[in-house]
Amino acid sequence: MKEPDAHTDPSAATGELIRFEQVTKRFGGHTVLDRLDFSVAAGRHVTLIGPSGSGKTTILRLLMTLAEPDEGTITVGGQRLFPAPEKQVREIRKNIGMVFQQFNLFPNMKVLRNITEAPVTVLGLSKDEAEQRARELLDLVGLGDHLDKYPSQLSGGQQQRVAIARALAMRPQVLLLDEVTSALDPELVAGVLDVLRDIARTTDITMLCVTHEMSFARDISDQVLMFDSGQVVESGSPEKIFSAPEHGRTREFLSAVL
Ligand code: ADP
Repeated sequence: MKEPDAHTDPSAATGELIRFEQVTKRFGGHTVLDRLDFSVAAGRHVTLIGPSGSGKTTILRLLMTLAEPDEGTITVGGQRLFPAPEKQVREIRKNIGMVFQQFNLFPNMKVLRNITEAPVTVLGLSKDEAEQRARELLDLVGLGDHLDKYPSQLSGGQQQRVAIARALAMRPQVLLLDEVTSALDPELVAGVLDVLRDIARTTDITMLCVTHEMSFARDISDQVLMFDSGQVVESGSPEKIFSAPEHGRTREFLSAVL
């Protein structure tokens, strides 16, 4: 992505990387996001919480250009995402990685190839460079010994850690995490969350994370956004949101999940 220019791009002065302005998204007659405004500064770890169906995943899908807003503006690094020339969208997309609930690994490729495929085909890295990077990332997620296996030979937690390594292999500026532990058996959740805590602590990657794991949200977040009916009803530090929520909907939601 082009470096933001502080002289021409007001978002550069504030370090703002992602901005949603008056974004509305409807499915059929149902308004899922309702004139939504929020922004995320570069390097921040932001958690989206709120009841099921409140629009959290839709936000990540819009950023991945898997869906389009009906109204409003989304910018990443000061560059507009919709509508935008295809080249600009491709550049923005290269800087955003996503990890899904269901891993979505390529089943016919071994672990190493799952990770090297996109860096070679999209970024143009040599096979050697991509493999070296993949090995480092597999070590980071604790799977250095599994690079020759197929996804089906791994547990769900291991597959999800491969998916995290695969997303990081593209060196994205932003990592989107969509309920990455909700398809896992309970005993496998902690390993995946530990890897993400490590990444949050040791990299400057910007994270947007939809999760029902409140203690994880409390640990890694700089900021928590509480959603209800397609709007942010409350936002603040994890201390504020979890210890002293102000909005009735936040209190109700937290008392149901904690
Ligand atoms: P959350 O992540 O907060 O659970 P979602 O963003 O997944 O919420 O969904 C918000 C609402 O949008 C839900 O009512 C869901 O059924 C609806 N929705 C999401 N994607 C689609 C789609 N592709 N087609 C129709 N409805 C959708």
